[in-house]
Amino acid sequence: MPSFSMDCIVNRTRFLNAKLADGTLADLTVAAGRFSAIAPAANTATPPAGAIDLAGQLVLPAFVEGHIHLDTSFYGDAWRPHIPCTNGFDVRERVAFQMRNLEQAAPMAERAKNQLELCVGNGSLAMRSHVMVDADVGLKHVETILAVREKYRDLVDVQLVAFPQSGILSSPGTAELLDEALKLGCDLIGGLDPASFDRDVDGHLDVVFGLAERHGAGIDIHLHDGGTLGLFEIEEIAARAKALGIGGKVAISHAYALGDISPDALAKAGEMLAASGVAIMTNAPGNHPFPPVAALRKAGVTVFAGSDNIRDSWWPYGDGDMLNRANMIGYRSGFYEDWELESAHDLASHAGAKALGLEGYGIAVGAKADFVALKAEHVPEAVVAVPKERTVYRAGREVARQGRMTR
Ligand SMILES: [Zn+2]
Repeated sequence: MPSFSMDCIVNRTRFLNAKLADGTLADLTVAAGRFSAIAPAANTATPPAGAIDLAGQLVLPAFVEGHIHLDTSFYGDAWRPHIPCTNGFDVRERVAFQMRNLEQAAPMAERAKNQLELCVGNGSLAMRSHVMVDADVGLKHVETILAVREKYRDLVDVQLVAFPQSGILSSPGTAELLDEALKLGCDLIGGLDPASFDRDVDGHLDVVFGLAERHGAGIDIHLHDGGTLGLFEIEEIAARAKALGIGGKVAISHAYALGDISPDALAKAGEMLAASGVAIMTNAPGNHPFPPVAALRKAGVTVFAGSDNIRDSWWPYGDGDMLNRANMIGYRSGFYEDWELESAHDLASHAGAKALGLEGYGIAVGAKADFVALKAEHVPEAVVAVPKERTVYRAGREVARQGRMTR
């Protein structure tokens, strides 16, 4: 029987001449959505019918978008000029600006869809989105984003974090709403600056860790607090995660404090985070101190990457391209050597998959065939060049090309 017929019968696709991260050329076979074989490129004169020739393009596992806000972006909607805070960065004031902007924005489902397609088009097929829950919006955002996730289930894996954007104790009723959000289908419980926002670290964390325990949910806390205050909160979160033995499911997003404490304090914090298994998410933001990626990785901490805000009320930047995010993180971290550039890519791929607890991630036999083919010699070049010419495959089927969805 000709191979084409056999491939059709077993739903098998072959990808020829794929450049792997180690520089070798390989032929990849995908069956039932997973890599079933990876072999040195055969380079036969007559390739099997139906095979896709990748012509030496670099094949990378689909990127992992570790932190995004699907409910608050204006991407694809009217441009919203950035409103500066009255007196330096103020989370409460930014939340108020956001509420005002959202009242005039296009329907949330439409904006979320725009943002999802932007991310998938650039090669992210797994993501973690925080979704606002507070006494004003109730569960409206969660319900809308849950429906969008359902619609895109075949294209992208989306984890949702019930995110108390207006605090927990300072927005009465929020704890109960967060409980409901987890019942409705959110995968993780979020948090927000327990000290500076709710001014009660224990009270805030009692709710967050209590809900996580009750629902078996993961935790991902927004922590902007800097210096020793932020460090104190990081220590509290790590201690609780360790005591409960749930470190592998706990992350701190931003953790700016790690970027502005002494080297000794950082070394201690790194040890504690590694021992407790708490991961750190960074997006290497603008002119702000951010966690020292290399030092934390060296200490054994899982550091992963996310876009965070994309063209929303917090800032006008963001393009949903995790390869570009790896570039920014590498640039801001002063990464020049190949291994350093590879580590920047790791934040947006394997480390992200570890932090999100993804099953079957990578270019390996048995792994899900979610991958990106792009024109680059190797990973370091991909990180500095950020080639936009790329094709995205979900379960071995093309879903996007040159940044646009094709399926
Ligand atoms: Zn965020």
